[in-house]
Amino acid sequence: MNAVELPGWTHRYSGKVRDLYEPAEGSDRAGDGTVLVVASDRISAYDHVLPTPIPDKGKVLTALSLWWFEQLVDLVPHHVVSTDVPAAVAGRAMVCRRLEMFPVECVARGYLTGSGLVEYRQNSSVCGIALPPGLLDGSRLDEPVFTPATKAELGEHDENVTFEHVATTVGAEAAAELRDLTLAVYRRAEGVARERGIVLADTKLEFGRAGGVTVLGDEVLTPDSSRFWPAETWEPGRAQPSFDKQFVRDWLTSPDSGWDRGGPEAPPELPADVVERTRSRYVEAYERLTGRTFTG
Ligand code: ATP
Ligand code: MG
Repeated sequence: MNAVELPGWTHRYSGKVRDLYEPAEGSDRAGDGTVLVVASDRISAYDHVLPTPIPDKGKVLTALSLWWFEQLVDLVPHHVVSTDVPAAVAGRAMVCRRLEMFPVECVARGYLTGSGLVEYRQNSSVCGIALPPGLLDGSRLDEPVFTPATKAELGEHDENVTFEHVATTVGAEAAAELRDLTLAVYRRAEGVARERGIVLADTKLEFGRAGGVTVLGDEVLTPDSSRFWPAETWEPGRAQPSFDKQFVRDWLTSPDSGWDRGGPEAPPELPADVVERTRSRYVEAYERLTGRTFTG
């Protein structure tokens, strides 16, 4: 599951899920300003990377991101240059323009849950945006809101911040652009998902700069970066079942796993049925959203 060696590319960085490579010195792409973004089959839950991979997850996430980038291209340019990648990572890698990433997780929420709900219960607002009283877990907001967060180190939670905080970090003009783009992307994607019977509760985008232009980077609108809920079971006032990681979360927090979420131990290996059901959910999300069949 660790980053593999790839001809023509030098491994530079591994996040929780993705591995980044630069063109190797002396290769055709050396110095051309690209990076190779490789999605692994690693899965994280409760801020831990689990020891068991989910087969095909990297391919599903890459195919879904590529599909979304195309749906959004009239709203914002994206970083994908080519999908001509080394055979060892075929289907789960993209050659991308190297971006100077903004140090902001650009989150849009159309529904209240997760850290947004926690904040709302404390002070009736999220990231400095006041919300009406009486909202429940899973309530739909009248208008989607931009709720940025700072990027956390591995094992730490991202921290919600105000728009003003973002403006201090990246400048007022860039902050406004990031907010407007994030909300535009959310609105578009929420409509697409709704037509497919999926509630897009919230999503996290990452933008960067290249050649003086703000570009959408990273992955987009995947189950890893977004909360997808089946529309038919959406019901405010309780935790909504999630499309993808629900089996993993349920099992990890059940007595069967023997794992203490608050303790110092890393999570255990997942049982085969949890892996298979989770894989099916990722594939289902892809197929429902894109209307395509996942062929692997
Ligand atoms: P997580 O997403 O799980 O919070 P992470 O963001 O640290 O963790 P990954 O998503 O696994 O890690 O790795 C992707 C990394 O690549 C991120 O740091 C992201 O900002 C960066 N990245 C994405 N696209 C580009 C790009 N075009 N140029 C430069 N860096 C990029
Ligand atoms: Mg990431």
